[in-house]
Amino acid sequence: MSDFQHKVIVGLEIHVQLCTRSKMFCGCAVAFGEQANSRVCPVCLGMPGVLPVMNKQAFEYAVLVGLALNCEIPSFTKWDRKSYYYPDLPKNYQISQYDLPLAKDGFIQIPPAGGKKAKGKDEADSAQSKRIGIIRAHLEEDAGKNLHTAGNFSSVDLNRTGTPLLEIVSEPDLSGGAEARALAVELQRIVRYLGVSEGDMQKGQMRFEPNINLVITKDGKEFKTPIVEVKNLNSFRALERSIDYEVQRQLDEFLETGLVLEMGNKTTRGWDDEREVTVLQREKEEAHDYRYFPEPDLVPVELTDAWLDEIRGRLCELPLARQVRYVEEYKLSDYDAGVLTGERGTADFFESAVATGGEPKRVCNLLTQVGLKLANEKGCGVDELGVTAQSVADLAGMVALGDVSAGAAAAIFEAMAETGKEPRLLADELSLIQKSDAGELEAMVDEVLAANPQAVKDVTSGGKKSKKARGFLLGQVMQKTKGQANPKVVSEIIARKFG
Ligand code: ZN
Ligand code: MN
Repeated sequence: MSDFQHKVIVGLEIHVQLCTRSKMFCGCAVAFGEQANSRVCPVCLGMPGVLPVMNKQAFEYAVLVGLALNCEIPSFTKWDRKSYYYPDLPKNYQISQYDLPLAKDGFIQIPPAGGKKAKGKDEADSAQSKRIGIIRAHLEEDAGKNLHTAGNFSSVDLNRTGTPLLEIVSEPDLSGGAEARALAVELQRIVRYLGVSEGDMQKGQMRFEPNINLVITKDGKEFKTPIVEVKNLNSFRALERSIDYEVQRQLDEFLETGLVLEMGNKTTRGWDDEREVTVLQREKEEAHDYRYFPEPDLVPVELTDAWLDEIRGRLCELPLARQVRYVEEYKLSDYDAGVLTGERGTADFFESAVATGGEPKRVCNLLTQVGLKLANEKGCGVDELGVTAQSVADLAGMVALGDVSAGAAAAIFEAMAETGKEPRLLADELSLIQKSDAGELEAMVDEVLAANPQAVKDVTSGGKKSKKARGFLLGQVMQKTKGQANPKVVSEIIARKFG
């Protein structure tokens, strides 16, 4: 047992729902939470004789993601039928793409997994991002939804049928649950930045299917455990936990049975969210005969250079690149840069505030410590609080000058969101301007010293009590000014008094 090592190998398949107004091949609205079977038509119901028409916007959105994932975008792509029978699929086939996907051979850079939380700030700053290969990305249509809610029957809602889905398949370059999660989070940021998907997990707009196995080295020999695919995960947490669970389960199974990967030895498992275990679904994943063949009702898509260039023009600076730039350009910590670039609206707002003269670190503090909290409470973006970037920059300037304390700045920020007024005006109205006038403050310090001879004695004694007594005197001055004195200035005056 001395020579025993294992390496985790994970590949990820991700389905992302694109936020087009209408479905992939018909004019029905893409909707969530509507009355069951109210957003359907003969095309998405799969009636005989109807003809699908490609949603151009969905295609362009998919190409845009392909470009963001550094993929090769072929100039010719086509549609294929993937046949299978299931009650939520009325046509008995799904229109998908088989041998000629619209994007292939790309990669995604992901931040170091867990780096933000687990490591110290300096370590996280120096950690490198990792490149994960993307095998392909293709477009297809979603199926409907079977509902097993009550009674000895199931019902089906076909509103989701025909919704455009982008399927992305990664290389097995991931080393475990944390990295898979990092990839999923990064992809969510990317599709939101590009404006091609809301990436809302609660609405099932991103679904994950990891493939997991281990390469075990034991006494100089190498063994591979059978590949397990975990189906249909719809949260980052489930993705990470199910992979970590599988790693341990496969290790245990190997030690108990010595079971190794053979040809076609792949199983499918589901994730039980309550018990936090994977559950066997299909023992032997047969090479499914989906009988793929070219969709006869749709013309292939020929992407001209001009069209591709037009789509490429819609690319923006991607979130990770922006995060790295914030660390370099604005000297922010990787953690802060990650928070600011979480949503494109937040990052844009931050940059506007900096462009109007806000000191980056102070603007960052105001946004991460106050703005985002407020936005979260209101369920909106920080750019939708009714506060202008200019006023946040001004407020940051007031903190820098010592006109207001950090605590007062938070109160002013909240008042700005409520009233839309300028920060300086609010600071006056709320009496939050710090007194920094040394002359005025010195008189108060003198009064406080005269009124507290014991504390003065303690300070001059220089003993253990000295530091505490200084704090007490400072507190007395702050109280006298109802908290409006600039504590830094007061401390300096007190220090001066005692030489
Ligand atoms: Zn329809
Ligand atoms: Mn698929």
